[in-house]
Amino acid sequence: MNIQHILEDTNALLKGHFKLTSGRHSEYYVEKIKIIHYPDKVELLCKEIANKLKDFPIDIVVGPAFGGIALAYEVARQMGKKFVFTQRKDDKMSIRSGFDIKAGDNAVIIEDIITTGGSVKEVIDVLKEYHVNVQAVASIVDRSAGKAQFDCPLISLAELTFETWEEKDCPLCKENIAIMKPGASDKKL
Ligand SMILES: [Zn+2]
Repeated sequence: MNIQHILEDTNALLKGHFKLTSGRHSEYYVEKIKIIHYPDKVELLCKEIANKLKDFPIDIVVGPAFGGIALAYEVARQMGKKFVFTQRKDDKMSIRSGFDIKAGDNAVIIEDIITTGGSVKEVIDVLKEYHVNVQAVASIVDRSAGKAQFDCPLISLAELTFETWEEKDCPLCKENIAIMKPGASDKKL
């Protein structure tokens, strides 16, 4: 299965001329909510993840809101494990109350896109407070160019790195290609 084709089919991976939230210009843009827009594609992507995780001891599959929720749920469903999600509460990553989590449980974390790995680290920290062992982190896309590293294996279905430019250096601007400014994602929700 070609992950990049799935991302292109769902318009999660867009090619064109984009102004990113950083202000830099890029030929590609990832509309990450599109990754979970089509449940049949989510099922396929999660099947790949579940397959890569099959040798890990797992009690709970954890996903950070929002993108990670659908993915972690589907991986948990396919593997016959329990599902847990985390969310930001007053800016601090927390586990949604009501889930039964035991000290010594083994967890994997599922994320849609890893850019810096910052939010995954916060999820790892909150799981440590519960004395849960994080066995692996899995993501659909790793955009960190190898920079995101954790104390456990990181498994990604696709590694995507895009070149970005300041406006004055942008070759697409020089070709007068119309620029799009995709909606900023609201991470604080
Ligand atoms: Zn440009």
